[in-house]
Formats: sequence, structure tokens, C-alpha cells
Amino acid sequence: MNTQQLETDYLIIGSGAVGMAFADVLLAETDANIVIVDKHHKPGGHWNDAYSFVTLHQPSSFYGVSSRELSNGTVDEVGLNKGLAELASGPEIMAYYDQIMKHTFLPSGRVQYFPMCEYQGDGKFSSMLSNNQYQVKVNRKIIDGTYFKTSVPSTHTPSFEVADGVEFGPLNELPSLIEPRDDYVIVGGGKTAIDAVLWLLDNQINPDDISWIMPRDGWWIDRKNTQPSRKFFMNTMGAQATQAEAVAAAENIDDLFDRLEKGGVLMRLDPNVKPAMFHGATVSRDELAQLRRIKKVIRKGRVTRIDTNKIHFGNDSIATTANTMHVDCSARAVPVNEIYDVFQGNKIVVQTVRSYQPIFSAAFIAHIEASYDDEAHKNDLCQVVPLPNHDTDWLFGMAAQMRNQMRWSQEPGLRDWLLSNRLDGFTNLVQQSDETTKEQMQVLMRLKEAAPKAGANMPKLIAQAMKIMAARTANS
Ligand SMILES: Cc1cc2nc3c(=O)[nH]c(=O)nc-3n(C[C@H](O)[C@H](O)[C@H](O)COP(=O)(O)OP(=O)(O)OC[C@H]3O[C@@H](n4cnc5c(N)ncnc54)[C@H](O)[C@@H]3O)c2cc1C
Repeated sequence: MNTQQLETDYLIIGSGAVGMAFADVLLAETDANIVIVDKHHKPGGHWNDAYSFVTLHQPSSFYGVSSRELSNGTVDEVGLNKGLAELASGPEIMAYYDQIMKHTFLPSGRVQYFPMCEYQGDGKFSSMLSNNQYQVKVNRKIIDGTYFKTSVPSTHTPSFEVADGVEFGPLNELPSLIEPRDDYVIVGGGKTAIDAVLWLLDNQINPDDISWIMPRDGWWIDRKNTQPSRKFFMNTMGAQATQAEAVAAAENIDDLFDRLEKGGVLMRLDPNVKPAMFHGATVSRDELAQLRRIKKVIRKGRVTRIDTNKIHFGNDSIATTANTMHVDCSARAVPVNEIYDVFQGNKIVVQTVRSYQPIFSAAFIAHIEASYDDEAHKNDLCQVVPLPNHDTDWLFGMAAQMRNQMRWSQEPGLRDWLLSNRLDGFTNLVQQSDETTKEQMQVLMRLKEAAPKAGANMPKLIAQAMKIMAARTANS
């Protein structure tokens, strides 16, 4: 066994979107050397394992790394994202990260990249293909870029049994099907399930031949409100103002979600079914219209077993056939609950500091690492915005995000960094300029007026949300 000794300033575990965004800022803002280790053979993390028809859920313009544009600046002219900023495809994302590694990171002479290697802890990692082992002396910090534990259907293990003879596989297998099936059963209610349904409909499958197993309905974000360009100011900033007004005025949690829905901030599949989940999934109105064509939505909880003639949900079941394709979309993309201090001595655990924005957060935390010395100060600037799971988590995320935005606005210099960072996407919309129209000013005024009122009403709503969660836990 050959153990090679290495020395570096930063050791980054994971060359997924998070590790890459972090390394990019360190390269730009420090003179540090970096070692990056990953089990995958190429940078991009879970995008290596994605289905061929995957795309980003958000505009490309604020995904990737700070130093290189991912978007071509185009607005889609066709398809269900028509009229909205382009969404990079899986291959585009993979090529992008490959380019960054080959043309920015490695040529800098400051990055060493170890793909196909597994990190074991204490600065040790080993090759997955050879007997090579490495021991790294880390002069500054170890960066944990694996916190989000992104789980995708092609690599996860489903939580239910599948009998022999059942046609069952991840949505990655859909494009390989070459004969019609009796039915297509989508297992899961998250974003990959949405992608699977849309793909089937786009490929001329009759909506009546699709059954959608929906353990929990989710609240979805309208993609029109996530567009960072001035052209969409009224949508994006209008939604910010509407959500602040909703929090400010809501009497209770039901009232809050009513207001968010009526104001166009959140959407749901079925107006008669109250969602219990919020994962930050983002869809366009045209996608929503397509999804609503599915009438066989099965709400019996989680699948416990699939046999060739039955799908079981504990003691309940529905019929299926041997000629039915059961499509696994049950991986929970980001299955984490615990939160930690971001800065912990010689370790940084990269987490979200803005709601469902892991990539922006990675770049932001790297900037804080590069710019400040005092650990308490750094953690104060990087309070974690918890990842959402339940519907009520929308509120907890909003509260934490408002706290961070307020804190950042008091920190000299941070605003300039946010304004100039492409992963931020939104701060420059709030910035008034000669281009700001009267109508846009009115939206900014609404936001300004509602924000303190939202802050004042927040404790009451949070207390109610905590009671709801406690009751659900007691009943589960
Ligand atoms: C289909 C899909 C679409 C998405 N779309 C968006 C979107 O539009 N916008 C958005 O913000 N987010 C989106 N997400 C969320 C996604 O989690 C983030 O965008 C981001 O890709 C997560 O990156 P990551 O680096 O945290 O995780 P990963 O991509 O999982 O990368 C972590 C890396 O760490 C490596 N690793 C783990 N443990 C070890 C170890 N012990 N040793 C060595 N290496 C290790 C893994 O091999 C992996 O490559 C999407 C997620 C999915 C599944």
C-alpha cells in the first residue's frame, strides 16, 4: 500500500456544485492552495447520475460558480418554459463543470483534483481504483461539501420492497423503453416525479395511462417569480413584496398559505388538496397545466411493497400489472435535517444561508472565510437557513432568511460583493437606478413597508407552525 503525503491550505470534500462554487471563490479571493477529492470521476456531483432529460429547475443565470457564466442569456421560445430564462440541461451542466476544472482550476496551479477517491476523515483519502492512499496536511481548513447528501433515483435504495418480476426502475430508464405499457406508475411527489410525468406527456403518453403515487402533496414555486432579470422585475420583486405582505397580515398558517397562493407565490397540483410538503420545487404555469391533466393521483401514503399485481401502502393496496412500468422517483433530493455551525475551528460545513440556494450559499460562505478572521463573527454572518421539508418550513426559512438579509445589510462591504456576484441574482434588482420605473418603485415601497410588519407578525405564526408540527409528530 502506497501512502502519499500531501500538503494544502484547504481540503475540499466533494466536487459537486457546492464544492466547486466554494473553490471558485477561494481561488479568486485568496492565494490559497486547494485539494479537491471526490468519489465521482468528473466534477458536478449528482449531475453525473442524472436522467438524460434533466434540467435545472431555476434559471441558469444564477447556478454554477461565480467566475463563469452558465447561461447563454436566452429566453426559451418553445416548450413549457416558454417566455422564461433558459434552464441548463444535465449535459450542459456537466460540460460547464468540466470546463471550469480544466480551464480555470487546474491551470491556476493552485488546485489538485483527485476524482475517484473516497475521503475517510482526518485528512485521509484513498483511490477507489488503485491501492493508493493519501494523507493531507491541511494548513487552513477542511471544507465539507457533502452536507446536502443529494440523493437521486439512479443511485439510492428505495425504502420499499419490490418483488421479482415487477418492472421497476429509476426515471433514467424511461428513454430506453421501446414498447407501450399498460400504465406508468410514478412513485414520488417531488421534482423528479414532476419531470417524469412531464416527460411521459411530452412523449405522447395518454394522461389516463399515468398513475401518480403522491405520498404528500407539495407547495410549488412559480418559476416566473425566480427570474433575476429586470424584464421580470414585477414578477420577482412583486412576489417578494407579496410574501412579506402575506406574512405581515396572516391571522394563522392556513390564512398565510391562502394569501401566498392567491398572490401567485405558491402553487399546488390540486386546489382541493392541502399540501403538507414544501421542498422548494419550482415549476412554470404551463408545466402546472400539464401536470393537472393527470387524474389518477393516488394519495394513500408511502409505498411499502410492489408485487406484480399489487402496490401496497401498509394495509391498503391498489392493483397493478406485470406490463406496468413503475418509475422510481422516491429519492428525496436533499434528505438532511440537522444543522450545524458553519464555521467549526478547522472545519467548514457548507449549508444554506439563503432559502434553497445551496450554490449561492457555498460562494457566500467562501467569501466570508476569505474576508474575516473572527469565527463568531463569521458564524453570525452565516446563520443557517434550514432546508425545507414540511409546508410550515416555508415560514421557518423565510424567518431565517429575513434575519440574514437584515444582518448582511448592516455589514460594510457585503452589499458590494452581493451586487457583483452572479450567483446572487437578486440583490441588484432591489438596487434603485435610473432604470427603475415608477411601477417598480411602488413594488419596492410595498416591500419596504411590509418587511417590518412581517417581522412583527412572524413570532405568532412561528408559534402556530410549531404547534402544528408537534401535533403531526404526536399523531404519526
Ligand atoms: C434533479 C435535480 C435538480 C436540481 N436542480 C436544482 C436547481 O435548479 N437549483 C438548485 O439550487 N439546486 C438544484 N438541485 C439541488 C442540488 O442539491 C444542488 O443544486 C447541488 O447540485 C447540490 O450539490 P452538492 O455539491 O451539495 O451535492 P452533490 O452533487 O451530491 O455533490 C457532492 C459530492 O461529494 C462527493 N462525496 C460525498 N462523500 C464523499 C466522500 N466521503 N469522499 C469523496 N467524495 C465524496 C460525491 O461523490 C459528490 O460528487 C437539484 C437537485 C436535483 C437532484
